[in-house]
Amino acid sequence: MISLDGAMGEGGGQVLRTALSLSMCTGQPLRIQNIRANRPKPGLLRQHLTAVNAACAVCAGSATGAELGSHELTFLPDAIRAGDYDFAIGSAGSTTLVLQTILPALMTASGPSSVVLSGGTHNTHAPSVHFLQHAFLPLIERMGPTIRLDLERHGFYPAGGGQIHVHIEPTEQLKPTELLLPSPITGRRAIASVAGLSGSIAKRELAIVADHLGWEPDCLHIEQLADEVGPGNILSIEIQREDVTEVFTGFGERGVSAERVASNTVRDVQRYLGSNVPVWHYLADQLMLPLALAGGGAFRTGPLSKHAQTNVHVLEAFLGSCIQAAEIDGASVEIRAQPRR
Ligand code: ATP
Repeated sequence: MISLDGAMGEGGGQVLRTALSLSMCTGQPLRIQNIRANRPKPGLLRQHLTAVNAACAVCAGSATGAELGSHELTFLPDAIRAGDYDFAIGSAGSTTLVLQTILPALMTASGPSSVVLSGGTHNTHAPSVHFLQHAFLPLIERMGPTIRLDLERHGFYPAGGGQIHVHIEPTEQLKPTELLLPSPITGRRAIASVAGLSGSIAKRELAIVADHLGWEPDCLHIEQLADEVGPGNILSIEIQREDVTEVFTGFGERGVSAERVASNTVRDVQRYLGSNVPVWHYLADQLMLPLALAGGGAFRTGPLSKHAQTNVHVLEAFLGSCIQAAEIDGASVEIRAQPRR
């Protein structure tokens, strides 16, 4: 049994999600205490509880402590089962984070799977569907599986009501992949999406992108979504390279101007463009687990976020020393996965 303190490092939901994924993939039972101890509302929220229940369903597992608000969980995995699944979070909790939990198991399962998830699809502090479609999943596909993610209905906080449908063709063994130097930029795109809000918000966001990044109008797109999925606003900025696309997401919030949402997002893009690394920090923490399972591969990224450091500790608890992090210079770190024993 792997025993973890959920308060370690970042002390948020990521400790739980990474641990569940690894418990499923390695067959090692898990006990976790102090779940999300460093969050204002600690314990299992709907999103985390759905992730636990989804993990149980996908690997015929059982759990004790799988209740809303629970601070402690024991999870006993069994064999991973490919199949058709449907999980509803029942709030605007992030569907993409529930997917992140069960995807490693399903992408190495013995057959194809189809997963419908309902809840939030564009949440702050979570990968947006656009990020998964354009940044994360293309890299995962390079490692072997084929994954199609369809956004069936947008779900914004606080209303939720969104839906994604994921089709997974697994691979027997994930292949290592490497992203060490930034390859040439092949495309740029900014999409400002609004639902149930004035189109002028999207125009003002794109004006900031054009002004601060010097982008031409053909890189700038407005997406007016159906009013009934709103209110919601997101700005997705893509930097497409030969071997990786990075996606930067700004989330519109009540009380925060469109200009502020856009300039914060653009600032992140500028930091990335001014760096000498191909992988930025969200992709970095998300790529560690697949590479560790592949037992090889490497990427360079900026200084490791607390999140990424926490992920390394959880990975080590299950797989031993499977990730090496070497500082290249003050501004970049090389993450290299070690062969699995
Ligand atoms: P919880 O709120 O459930 O306790 P947590 O605090 O651990 O979870 P976060 O730190 O917010 O969760 O991050 C969860 C995951 O979402 C991480 O894998 C992170 O890379 C990813 N993530 C957060 N924001 C973005 C973003 N803007 N784009 C892409 N991925 C993101």
